[in-house]
Amino acid sequence: MSSIAFKPFHGLRRSSAVPTPTSTTTTLYKPAVKFHVSAAKTSPKLSNRNLRVAIIGGGPAGGSAAETLAKAGIETFLIERKLDNCKPCGGAIPLCMVGEFDLPLDIIDRRVTKMKMISPSNIAVDIGQTLKPHEYIGMVRREVLDAYLRDRAKENGANVINGLFLKMDMPKHWDEPYVLHYTEYDGKKGAMGAKATLEVDAVIGADGANSRVAKAINAGDYDYAIAFQERIKIPDDKMVYYENLAEMYVGDDVSPDFYGWVFPKCDHVAVGTGTVTHKNDIKKFQLATRNRAKDKILGGKIIRVEAHPIPEHPRPRRLSGRVALVGDAAGYVTKCSGEGIYFAAKSGRMCAEAIVEGSQNGKKMVDEGDLRKYLEKWDKKYWPTYKVLDVLQKVFYRSNPAREAFVEMCADEYVQKMTFDSYLYKTVAPGNPLEDLKLAVNTIGSLVRANALRKEMEKLNV
Ligand SMILES: Cc1cc2nc3c(=O)[nH]c(=O)nc-3n(C[C@H](O)[C@H](O)[C@H](O)COP(=O)(O)OP(=O)(O)OC[C@H]3O[C@@H](n4cnc5c(N)ncnc54)[C@H](O)[C@@H]3O)c2cc1C
Repeated sequence: MSSIAFKPFHGLRRSSAVPTPTSTTTTLYKPAVKFHVSAAKTSPKLSNRNLRVAIIGGGPAGGSAAETLAKAGIETFLIERKLDNCKPCGGAIPLCMVGEFDLPLDIIDRRVTKMKMISPSNIAVDIGQTLKPHEYIGMVRREVLDAYLRDRAKENGANVINGLFLKMDMPKHWDEPYVLHYTEYDGKKGAMGAKATLEVDAVIGADGANSRVAKAINAGDYDYAIAFQERIKIPDDKMVYYENLAEMYVGDDVSPDFYGWVFPKCDHVAVGTGTVTHKNDIKKFQLATRNRAKDKILGGKIIRVEAHPIPEHPRPRRLSGRVALVGDAAGYVTKCSGEGIYFAAKSGRMCAEAIVEGSQNGKKMVDEGDLRKYLEKWDKKYWPTYKVLDVLQKVFYRSNPAREAFVEMCADEYVQKMTFDSYLYKTVAPGNPLEDLKLAVNTIGSLVRANALRKEMEKLNV
């Protein structure tokens, strides 16, 4: 068994009771032994070494966190169990991610500029007409994107460990390390390696929806959707149709609370759906999604079948002591769209930035207060986005007539512009008051029609 342990902390010496020097909120540390801090209380400088941080999970959240930490001079360890992981995912990313994360264009398989929104009665509305010539939705393969971000972190100095994180021992005092236990993998043989430990000052849990880090800090559960996806290799002439086009299907048949999709990938399409409320029926919904697209994917061969949970909302707790959760581990996927890649990368980066700032580029110890700054910034920046999409889902995904109204609304150019702008750039697009009023009237009109239709259908017992 190998272990990577700390050089001793030189700035601190055992003596009298002093809790965390800068944190006022922590509940994790209940010092049983008394301490005297010989370094300045508000600045527990680290001697002979820099801050040491471990990130568990090397998806977009982990990769971007590791890059930011390593660039800032923090001793960074990223533990990923599967370096060629092909995360079940549609792989759609917003344009702003390409710029913000400086992604090379050759890792983007397709640039989607057309989207078809297809109603329960198969009325298709084309969206994307408002896109400017340089605007698109990127389609990536996750094995490519994740490896790229991890490799870049490594080039910047992060230590990437191919291992399975098992558990961690919590520190009893604010200045003690977290001891991580993991199993090494032998990359060449693909075999399970020896058990190992690693001591670190802080931990970022970027280990996805089934996060062990979340369990370790009792972060609590979240509701989740189960998403199912089939990769289908379709004939070349059929692939031409999907070259730069994605489809979204709504209706009780494809999902009672989500949507079905056909997304173009490098040489195949990804066909999938998801649900929170009727998980046992997921295969039935998948079949319906495939059926709705059947003419366009005729002759296709299923080359891969995959399923994975998608969190519905943030966990009750995303932070404890010097451990913070990011990405799916924290629960940052938007309702309605099921989008999580950008939010994972962004939260990984924001959490790392808070650690860099709090530790003055790795020169001093961090505490819960430093990490909490990431949560405060995150909630301030994104809470409205999550809320709006939550409401949209409740209003428009609740019945087939409401979904018909939703698709009808999508034909409106103003709606398309607002939707695309907020998706592509992750900012709430400034509205035009007159257009907003028109939109409100149209929305009410659509919903009234939907409601009337539903009542008629109820009378007919349909
Ligand atoms: C079917 C489906 C389709 C989706 N489509 C889209 C889409 O088109 N666009 C979009 O934006 N989002 C989509 N999402 C959501 C998106 O996939 C996630 O939000 C995103 O992957 C979250 O990134 P992450 O880095 O937080 O976690 P993950 O991508 O889940 O990465 C976690 C990493 O941690 C590793 N790991 C886990 N446990 C351990 C352990 N114990 N030890 C070591 N390593 C560990 C895993 O191997 C993995 O590499 C989709 C999700 C699903 C399920």
